[in-house]
Amino acid sequence: MPATEILNRDRQINDHLIRDHLVQRRQRLAAVVDPPRHPDLTRLLLSVDSALERLAQGDWGACAVCHEPVESDRLLADPLVSVCLGCLTPEQRRALEHDLETAARIQAALLPPPRVERSGWEIARVYEPLGTVSGDYVDVVEPADGEGTLIAFGDVAGKGVAAAMVMSQLHALLRSLIRLELPLPELMERTNALLLASTTASSYATLVVARLGDDGALEIANGGHLPPLVVHAEGVRPLPITGVPVGLLPEVRFQTLETRMEPGETLLLFTDGLSEAPDAAGSEFGPRRVGATAARHHGAAAPAMLATLRNDLDAFLSGSPRVDDLSLMAVRRR
Ligand SMILES: [Zn+2]
Repeated sequence: MPATEILNRDRQINDHLIRDHLVQRRQRLAAVVDPPRHPDLTRLLLSVDSALERLAQGDWGACAVCHEPVESDRLLADPLVSVCLGCLTPEQRRALEHDLETAARIQAALLPPPRVERSGWEIARVYEPLGTVSGDYVDVVEPADGEGTLIAFGDVAGKGVAAAMVMSQLHALLRSLIRLELPLPELMERTNALLLASTTASSYATLVVARLGDDGALEIANGGHLPPLVVHAEGVRPLPITGVPVGLLPEVRFQTLETRMEPGETLLLFTDGLSEAPDAAGSEFGPRRVGATAARHHGAAAPAMLATLRNDLDAFLSGSPRVDDLSLMAVRRR
């Protein structure tokens, strides 16, 4: 299917979902609103009506002031948004900044510490949102049964607030499902089904979940994420993708890969904010450079390997701004 057709189809699906969502919201609001006593709710009801009217007229998503398209991540996060960032009043801008700072604090509280030690493993992470919040997902979880530490690493499609909201949903879903002590393929399948059921059609994420055994055993499921690298003295060994991204298709099956890591080997995970970072000329950092840098520092502790990669990226960018959220994780067998 040509890209424009796919875009139009997705847009139609989205418009449809947004209309349903707004109609439901309107019904619920109308049931509780007693206009003289709840002026705020009445105002909200009016803005829902206005969004429905704009959907019907086909100009939903256009800025009410300048008529340019409103940022799509803001629309996905809140279908009632009617003014683009450039046309906000100073008070509206301050309110938005305050909301974003709150969101960033919530997101920071979901992260594991920058470095943790778990029976025989050292785990380090770097987490750098492009803006205030990130659509990347990084987690370390101890399952209730004590059967090996779980790490999770992923990248929600899109950027900004909408991606960050899906990220926190993914975090909550996975944390609840891990308590059920499911085999890894089933954990991925349930995450997929629940994410699909609870977000809009365009929300999906690449996701790696791995179980680290005390004896160096590694079981890993990779839903469409960039292949993680096992870094050792002779170079790097990429671990293949074993399934599709989560939240994209119903009833998909996930495979896992079982391998073993030797003492001194490091499992390196990264988002495309590293491998696809473009320099001023438009050429990308590239997965090869990621592998080469990591291999040169195969003996380094997990945080040191990530710091080296981060420095190499800065040297490569030589002042060009980053264009995506950036996350890295190094899992070293001690
Ligand atoms: Zn505008």
